Amino acid sequence: MTHELPAFHPQRLTEARVAEGLTMAALAAKVGLSPQAVSAYENGTRTPTAEALSQLARALGTSIAYFKEERPFPVIAESAVFFRSTASARTRRNQEKRKQQATWAYEISAWLDRFVALPEFSGATFWRTDIADGFATPQEHTEESIEEVAMMLRSAWSMGTGPIPDLVALLESHGIRVIRQSSGSGKLDAFSRIVNARPMIFLSSDKEAGARSRFDAAHELGHLLLHPHLSMDEVSNPQILKQIETEANLFAGAFLMPESSFSREIHGVTLGAFLAMKPRWKLSAQAIIRRCFNLGAIDGVQYQRLCVDISARGMRRNEPYDDQIPPEEPSVLRRAWELLVEHRVVSRHQIADELLLPPNFIASTMGVAPESFETGNIINLEFRGQC
Ligand SMILES: [Zn+2]
Repeated sequence: MTHELPAFHPQRLTEARVAEGLTMAALAAKVGLSPQAVSAYENGTRTPTAEALSQLARALGTSIAYFKEERPFPVIAESAVFFRSTASARTRRNQEKRKQQATWAYEISAWLDRFVALPEFSGATFWRTDIADGFATPQEHTEESIEEVAMMLRSAWSMGTGPIPDLVALLESHGIRVIRQSSGSGKLDAFSRIVNARPMIFLSSDKEAGARSRFDAAHELGHLLLHPHLSMDEVSNPQILKQIETEANLFAGAFLMPESSFSREIHGVTLGAFLAMKPRWKLSAQAIIRRCFNLGAIDGVQYQRLCVDISARGMRRNEPYDDQIPPEEPSVLRRAWELLVEHRVVSRHQIADELLLPPNFIASTMGVAPESFETGNIINLEFRGQC
């Protein structure tokens, strides 16, 4: 009697490997298979045996069922991944990894959205009015037009012109999914991507400085609004990358520190004077100084002198007051999950069983402990009624 193996989807293996940032050779070495075997599984010319499948699942942190199911929420439209990079192979692999992680995070968000009405994205009008054919038409941006977009967004979101108390909460309330994940190994910069018209921003939990992380989030918001039309190849082009990085930084400065209110608070051009502005605006002195330079409040010579001063005091990475500005924590996905469990709309293992994604990934995306939804073997005991 032969046991027929259920359908194996080669694409799912590629996705799980890419999401781990592994090459085929590295995965093969991890599970004791030949690279040729992994390659044959991924291109569909061979189907793994039950034993190989279980080794692959263990190495990639997935269930075996993961390989047998089609994606529950297909990706119809997607943007490039906005990710600071150079064209080296290692970063290209990193880019693919982030791209896959964003797709998975989208699936988690879409799954939760089936049960709980999560905030809708309310910035889509910017894509329609500024970009003629959806994401198809590139648009030239100037310093003035970027300032304008930043102010239009503030007005559309009824924000006034003051400092933003909690940027992550603001973004989440307007339908941008914000995910703060640990990079696992190595340094991770923030990145962002739009999947099926759902903008998502990923922030590193490794960044202790909340002030820098706020600037990162605003920078990514800039990409989401200004650059949705660019392809993956375009954002990998060093010249285009340099341009869009500058534009995203300009946007972040303009959005976080509107000229009309921010300029009134500049009371000196010394490092001490800029540091004094930091606790109220919850931004690094370096970001504040750069904004002052862009606004013409200080000239090039003053700017250079301040940069030298910052380096000399060892403030490139850590600044005074950093410890008073903790990183802002995303809460929408976590709260949706807690609500579902609390009201027994879903059982604790349902999300992992239905999405078939690595449980650790689901947990870190929602910002909950992995044991919150251990798969399968949790037995929920209930009272029979009156004691
Ligand atoms: Zn960027």
